[in-house]
Amino acid sequence: MSLLAELRAVLGREDVLEEPVELYVYSKDASLMRGEATAVVFPQDSAEVAEIVRVAERHGVPIVARGAGTGLAAGASPTEGGIVLSTTAMTSLEIDPENRTAWVGAGVINLDLSKAAEPFGLHFAPDPSSQSACTIGGNVANNSGGPHCLAEGSTTSHVLGLEVVLAGGEVVTLGGDAPDTPGLDLKGVIVGSEGTLGIVTRALVRLLPIEPDVRTLLMDFPDMEGAARTVSQVIAAGLVPAALELMDQRMTVAVENWLHAGLPIDSAAVLLAEVVGETVGVESQAQLIADIGRANRAKKVQIAADAAERDLLWKGRKSAFGAIAQLAPDYYLHDAVVPRTKLVETMTAVYDIADKYDLTMLNVFHAGDGNLHPLIAFDASDPEVNRRVHQAGDEIVAICLKNGGALSGEHGIGVEKRDLMRTSFSELDLDAQARLKDVFDPGRVFNPNKILPEGSRCFDFGGVRREIPDGAWV
Ligand SMILES: Cc1cc2nc3c(=O)[nH]c(=O)nc-3n(C[C@H](O)[C@H](O)[C@H](O)COP(=O)(O)OP(=O)(O)OC[C@H]3O[C@@H](n4cnc5c(N)ncnc54)[C@H](O)[C@@H]3O)c2cc1C
Repeated sequence: MSLLAELRAVLGREDVLEEPVELYVYSKDASLMRGEATAVVFPQDSAEVAEIVRVAERHGVPIVARGAGTGLAAGASPTEGGIVLSTTAMTSLEIDPENRTAWVGAGVINLDLSKAAEPFGLHFAPDPSSQSACTIGGNVANNSGGPHCLAEGSTTSHVLGLEVVLAGGEVVTLGGDAPDTPGLDLKGVIVGSEGTLGIVTRALVRLLPIEPDVRTLLMDFPDMEGAARTVSQVIAAGLVPAALELMDQRMTVAVENWLHAGLPIDSAAVLLAEVVGETVGVESQAQLIADIGRANRAKKVQIAADAAERDLLWKGRKSAFGAIAQLAPDYYLHDAVVPRTKLVETMTAVYDIADKYDLTMLNVFHAGDGNLHPLIAFDASDPEVNRRVHQAGDEIVAICLKNGGALSGEHGIGVEKRDLMRTSFSELDLDAQARLKDVFDPGRVFNPNKILPEGSRCFDFGGVRREIPDGAWV
């Protein structure tokens, strides 16, 4: 039987897309890289996913898992062809309020989980700015963060167990609700593996209580230095706010033109800070943050008066990327992380790079954990501009690494940063990761050629086996 005929036999005709216009819709994620799939499938559960894995293995074609396609590193782009496996039909949700956990289908939208948990006084802490669209499966696969991960940690800190379909269509449960599951932490290996080791079909996640009180502060500064210093000094003072988010002037102007969220447009930088907890605690923490801001020349400190004002400020922050459409048809959103103490010099260098290449750059980022998101607004139909955008991008990554940072803060590696992995990992590191991939996926079916650059296996270097030094694998 042909690949399509076998897929239809497993799922029925309506859950297999194959028309060119349908395939085009699923040919890329939110990055700029497009691929071309043979089919898009919509399994309902792990049994159907297992069948699809067996079909793919028989035909020797890749499977690219896809949640909402909001990823920014081409992780869900079918760059090697094959089957796009959409998880959007896997939306089971069982909340266990007593244990403060939930078993969540991979296709459940992040915000929907928190909305479903709200009547029990609970929420799911990781809140990517894309949370109204992105899925739990995508969050797990990319170990996603969000504005409120500063205090609570990124997705990996909230995943207790995973149901995963492995090679051969084997369905396994990794981890669980016991405080410490025995054996190797294979769940930890899957989190952040970007669909390269197996397909996550359900996740057991931790839910946290909704805090009794909250204060959201907006401070505007005449320069980026004062805002960045405020961030470092707040953390140095022993506070761990729920969120510390920074926007530059170009971004606040773009957002205000669109949303009218009340952001100041005449200041070089705007800092959004949030503290949560008991009323007495949040009052004193908010005052301390305001004092630190003023000491760093904050022009105005506004504390949201009520939930409506707070929601509007957050809407301004979380919808920021939507505002870019006014400026240019395309944007390239970078993701790198530097130590907080290096924020000022890194930001200065990033602006210099944009000027050097004559590009429009805007910045909005998770300053509390040093996670930068320089955004270049441009027109991708101009090849010359494209070239400059990518050169600037490489220099931004290089400056972040030079300042002690890492390749990615939260968006993952995918194809976008695959060929930069050698800037951060030795040949032995890459070989170890490639061997792990081979153990999970000997047929190289799951999202091949993502994360690991060509030649990662020591066997792969020009076909010549490199000698591994004695003791290297101890
Ligand atoms: C406007 C905007 C704002 C964003 N803000 C943030 C932010 O604040 N923080 C942040 O971390 N990211 C952010 N992102 C990036 C993105 O939203 C996250 O990486 C998100 O978790 C991706 O989820 P998704 O469902 O869209 O996954 P997709 O894009 O569909 O897939 C992402 C990766 O996960 C794999 N995958 C998806 N589902 C599964 C599964 N069930 N099993 C195995 N692998 C799977 C895919 O193959 C791919 O490699 C933002 C993106 C946009 C466009």
